This record gives sequence, C-alpha cells and structure tokens, in this order.
Amino acid sequence: MNLIIFGPPGAGKGTQADKIVTEFNLNKISTGDLLRDEISKNTTLGKEIKKIIDKGSFVTDETINNLIKKIFSNNENHNRLIFDGYPRNLNQTKNLDHLLKKNKQSLTCVLSLNVPEDVVVKRILGRQVCTKCSLIFNKFFNPSNKKNHNCGEQFLTTRSDDKEEVIIKRYKTYIIETLPILNFYKNLDLLYEIDGIKDIDSIYKEIRQILHSLDG
Ligand SMILES: [Zn+2]
Repeated sequence: MNLIIFGPPGAGKGTQADKIVTEFNLNKISTGDLLRDEISKNTTLGKEIKKIIDKGSFVTDETINNLIKKIFSNNENHNRLIFDGYPRNLNQTKNLDHLLKKNKQSLTCVLSLNVPEDVVVKRILGRQVCTKCSLIFNKFFNPSNKKNHNCGEQFLTTRSDDKEEVIIKRYKTYIIETLPILNFYKNLDLLYEIDGIKDIDSIYKEIRQILHSLDG
C-alpha cells in the first residue's frame, strides 16, 4: 500500500498519518524530515542543501526529486509509503508518478482532509496546554472546565505564536497550491476527500474504512 495524505495546517494531518503508519505498518515520508536527515548525514547532497537553506533560498524540485528517488531505491520502503507534505506542486507530482511506474508500484489512494478556514483558525488560535498536567484543550471546541480539568484556568497557556492573518494566509496558500495536485489525482480516480471537521477518532475511522476496502 502506498498513500499520500493532504490537509491544511491545523487539519490534524500529522496525527492521522501517525495512526495509519502504526496500523498499516508504513514508512512516513516527509520532505522536511528527508532534508534534515540528509544534512545531518553530511552527504554531498546534504552539504548542498545546507548551503541553499542557509542562504534563505528554497530547495529545488530537482533536489526533492533526487531525495524521493533514494526512497524508492530502499527495499524497506517497497509498497509501504505514506507521503506527508509531498508532492508540493505538479512537477513533483509528475515525478512521483514516474518513479512509481519505474519501480512497478502504484498509489493505493490519496487522502485529503477538508477543513474550512474558520475551523482551522479556531483550532490553532484556541489551542491551550496546561503547564501543570500537560492536558490539551481548545477554547472553542473543547474548553477546560471543572469537570474535565482539576488544575484551574491559571495554568492554561496558549501555544500558538501565530496571528490570525498569518494562519489565514497559510491556509489560502495551501488551497491554491494543492488544488491542481488534487485535481491530478481526482482524474486518476485516486482521490478520497475526508471531512476533517469531525474529531480525531471519527476521522480515523473513516480513513481506515477506506484503506481496508482498498487493501483487498
Ligand atoms: Zn492541568
């Protein structure tokens, strides 16, 4: 099984990906991790990447494509991939398609978590952590009260440094950049859109139903 998971920041994509990895025994591939990994291994490519990032420039598609190529050359990853945050654009999408075919593999499906802008904003801005017991609450969706929390309001801290306009801008950028990729997979009949408003367990239930139905 090979998958891709998409979702705007604040959609809970990472949490869902981790659950899928555990249940279906997959290897999660995120380009951020790949880049960090390559830099820490101090390879020739890693040194080049570090130079680019230190300059404040973006890593090119060619570099990303080379990293993904390496992933396919590792037998450990054969039919066990879940991509998170990749592909980022149509060029990378076509490269992935090419690599899959070349390695006689295919995508089982592409999952897209759909969450409206206002919900993403409230999820990120409303997030609160208790400094005493580490429980996580949300001002809007799951507020701390006397029944679910003993420490008291004074220990709650807001984790997010983000301003509302920054969150909205990031969301809009995600939608604009991801749409052509989702359309590409829709045309291949691989796209499954998931209602990401529901709670973590309900979303995962829907995902695992899809995956089990495809994993015949
Ligand atoms: Zn507490």
